[in-house]
Amino acid sequence: MSFPRTLGELRRSSFSEERLLDRHVKDELRENLIERLRTNTPIFPGIVGYEDTVVPQIVNAILSRHNFILLGLRGQAKSRILRALTSLLDPHLPYVAGCDIHDNPYAPICRRCRDRIGECGEATAIAYLTPEERYVEKLATPDVTIADLIGDIDPIKAARGGHELSSELTVHYGLLPRANRGIFAINELPDLAGKIQVGLFNIMQEGDVQIKGYPVRLPLDVALVFSANPEDYTARGKIITPLKDRIGSEIRTHYPATVEEGITITTQEAWAERDGNELSIPKYVREVIERIAFAAREDKKIDKRSGVSQRLPISCIENVISNAERRAIEHSEKVVVPRVSDIYAALPAITGKLELEYEGEMKGADFVGRELIRSAIAKTYDQYFSGANLQQVVQWFELGGEIQILDDSAASEVLQSLRKIQGLMDKLTRINVGPKDAAEAQVSAAEFVLEGLHAHKRIGRNEERIFTAGEKPVKIAEKTFEREEGPYRPRRPLN
Ligand SMILES: [Zn+2]
Repeated sequence: MSFPRTLGELRRSSFSEERLLDRHVKDELRENLIERLRTNTPIFPGIVGYEDTVVPQIVNAILSRHNFILLGLRGQAKSRILRALTSLLDPHLPYVAGCDIHDNPYAPICRRCRDRIGECGEATAIAYLTPEERYVEKLATPDVTIADLIGDIDPIKAARGGHELSSELTVHYGLLPRANRGIFAINELPDLAGKIQVGLFNIMQEGDVQIKGYPVRLPLDVALVFSANPEDYTARGKIITPLKDRIGSEIRTHYPATVEEGITITTQEAWAERDGNELSIPKYVREVIERIAFAAREDKKIDKRSGVSQRLPISCIENVISNAERRAIEHSEKVVVPRVSDIYAALPAITGKLELEYEGEMKGADFVGRELIRSAIAKTYDQYFSGANLQQVVQWFELGGEIQILDDSAASEVLQSLRKIQGLMDKLTRINVGPKDAAEAQVSAAEFVLEGLHAHKRIGRNEERIFTAGEKPVKIAEKTFEREEGPYRPRRPLN
């Protein structure tokens, strides 16, 4: 398809004056959204868990032609949703070629374009924007200036052109005018200084603004969308009232409501398709990883106001796969099957995602991280093994049995030892693993059971990842004494 290249051609095409003159960006979003609703096309493909909550509210905001704000904690796909709004823009938008603010050819607002159309008339050149080019995003920080956001007066340009300082021809446009006829997203709105918020409000309300004391008229056509942490946003004095009043809809986002939803998101976002060995991630490993985030979101030692991002399980599973990958490469194993011990090895992908409260700080991020993993294992174990009789396995350890399963132990070696534990391997049918499955899968499953028993304190495990009998309260003193180790042994961190 070839597009009209001059104003004259444009007039005679489907981009007629009648259609485009008054079609503002919010009308365009609305029309295209209505078309989606009519044809039952998904509005935000890939956004999971918001179908009945966030999405209908966004739809209403767009139908209402509102500027809106998404309020939510970090890692709730806020930026992603805002970016996805571009899919509701027309595939091609004509504008006056060379215009910094992408003027509508039928209603240019900048002097340069009005002058050009005056000179060239119907021969004025036309260019086109893609939806992505019409999306401008800015992370608000306290040091954002009017110059960044709205524009600046360029005295050199003014002198050279012989213009009055306040003339539009001397304005160097900031981000907002450059988003003209598109979507402008400001993330973390409360971090924007008060006087910048005033500037933003003036543009929204009056279509003019003062730059360095000079009034500049800018009747922009922009859909403004924002995101913010709910507590920052509602805190008194963080947002100037007139600006708040101009934001039509406040929409709250949330974390996945169920472990299953969380898994769907994590699976979609994590980098798992790697070159090399076949990868098989057991369901229980995915569940444990997801439950770490769920547990963290409820933990008193972790700051509720900043939340626990969905990026925690995503980074964690990537690291888990890598640890399993490393083991498979070292032992030339065919299938990469992550184990629970790989989750402990992925602690570096977890701790950085936790904002600790005072109590958590005292205990340390590693300790808090391990505690979360352990509680996630216990819950997941219960899903599969509540009601199962594992007394025989516990007894095996109580009778003095011991087994070491390092996270880099080869599956074939460990499997031999695991088989000696009476009553263990036949329980694995509960997680769909049988004797005919790959050694890698059997070891992972058996280790999950042992980790589950350990998480419930029914058996013990030490720093060398040796599973032993559980500590009997009466024997504690004696046992600690027996197990004392020399001071020179390098210690693996206690998982
Ligand atoms: Zn222009």
